[in-house]
Amino acid sequence: MKTWLPHTQNRPKILIVDDQLSNIRVLHELFREDCDVFMATSGEQAITICQAQLPDLILLDVVMDDVDGHEVCRRLKAAPATQGIPIIFITAKQQDIDVVLGLELGAVDFISKPINPVIVKARVRTHLTLKLQYDLLRSFALVDGLTGVANRRKFDEDISADWRKCLREQKPLSLILADVDFFKRYNDRYGHQAGDVCLKSVAQTLSETVRRPYDLVARYGGEEFACVLPKTDYFGAVEIAERMQKKVRALGIEHSTSDVNSVVTISLGVATMTPTGDLEFKELIDAADQQLYRAKKTGRARVCASVTPEMPLSVPRC
Ligand SMILES: [Mg+2]
Repeated sequence: MKTWLPHTQNRPKILIVDDQLSNIRVLHELFREDCDVFMATSGEQAITICQAQLPDLILLDVVMDDVDGHEVCRRLKAAPATQGIPIIFITAKQQDIDVVLGLELGAVDFISKPINPVIVKARVRTHLTLKLQYDLLRSFALVDGLTGVANRRKFDEDISADWRKCLREQKPLSLILADVDFFKRYNDRYGHQAGDVCLKSVAQTLSETVRRPYDLVARYGGEEFACVLPKTDYFGAVEIAERMQKKVRALGIEHSTSDVNSVVTISLGVATMTPTGDLEFKELIDAADQQLYRAKKTGRARVCASVTPEMPLSVPRC
């Protein structure tokens, strides 16, 4: 039955939780052909697998010895990373009050034991389809339509999450802000369509400069881009910014009305902070912005950087 699921790039991930192995076996048999199936025989194990795998749907037994299904649901719904995962309770409890409690806890559906394979498959299909469509819409909503890199909303979400993560792990977080030099003049001289092509090329080049999956390049506004680099120290961030500056210049996009070069260049501001309880991520943005301002004030087409706002360090023009 290849057609029962909507077409997706990756196989959907389903987590089956039940303290009876025989129940897990039946459900596993139903879904193994079309989905990546994960299995847990206890509540604690279910939560651990959820955090690591972020499944697209959970089939959750209610009655279990250690942490019961209701508690698992409560905990998953309380954590931002797992609260969007649809949960279907599977249980022999068929009283209205049990169903109501499950739905109030955030479950999307209820299936009673003993299970009917046709019903389980139909309900899973419905909720998986909704989840995958939601994920797709969300990914579109986070992409900048012109350049194809992340948009400002995605930047806001990521820098806040990365700040919290680096605070927990006491790791440095770096931010690069980059601005295309004399972009208004570029538009005036070559037209807005050429301006759009130029922004696309710059965005593409900045994206190619970062390599780790958790590094983010986003369009910050107009002709301004941001690059969030978790667990990256000052020297690492400056090196990346220098590379960005060189690679954009190497594109060789003619810019006859620029005061600093005959081709398109960018100015970059870099800031690095190790988050503490007293600091907010907005201070990192302000610090990078100050360095970008310095880079523009001191001649453009260069990188300026600071470890903290109190310790400005200039990197000479390359
Ligand atoms: Mg049970």
